Amino acid sequence: MDDILAVSAIQHYAYCPRQFALIHIEQIWADNRFTAEGQLLHQRVDGGEPEQRGNIRYERAVLLNSQRLGLTGKMDLLEVDNNQVPVQLHPVEYKRGKSKIQDWDRFQLCAQAICLEEMRGVCVEDGAIWYWETRHRESVVFTPVLREKTEEVISEARKLLQEGKTPPPTNDRKRCKACSLVDICQPEIFRLDHSGHYIQELFTE
Ligand code: SF4
Repeated sequence: MDDILAVSAIQHYAYCPRQFALIHIEQIWADNRFTAEGQLLHQRVDGGEPEQRGNIRYERAVLLNSQRLGLTGKMDLLEVDNNQVPVQLHPVEYKRGKSKIQDWDRFQLCAQAICLEEMRGVCVEDGAIWYWETRHRESVVFTPVLREKTEEVISEARKLLQEGKTPPPTNDRKRCKACSLVDICQPEIFRLDHSGHYIQELFTE
């Protein structure tokens, strides 16, 4: 597959296709407090050596890829549970914020599970997202519905990558408040400009 996607890009696309395009098509990145804290958190968890506690082995910064879906990336933590027969693998992703109703983070974790299944020839049934702000570990079951939606997001993201066109801003203004790219994206200017054109067209007719 020509256009390899980063596993982390799935979360970007699901959150806002424009954000995905700015980062992965236009190669723009900017940090804000949230991304800086997120990077710090990942540095802390990525650095560790594998360790064994009881019958569970903890592998950190595990490389991932899927030939079928054209994905590549790295996962924060893989728990290998030798208490189970067959051995169970659980991907764990660390996030700075808190759990969300939307599946943005779950898509990313599910994509990690799909990569693991292809790489290790096993079935990965569930994993977890650990949220730093709330100190909460959320279990995620990789249901057929979640898998299907994840593959849909991957395919839409790849389509956008191939088209190479940055789409308009999301309609959900709340997302822009937490977005590190807000100063570069300028969503309000884009929206004003767009509504100006719309009004102009109305009067022209
Ligand atoms: S500022 Fe808003 S529209 Fe722009 S990339 Fe971020 S979330 Fe998307």
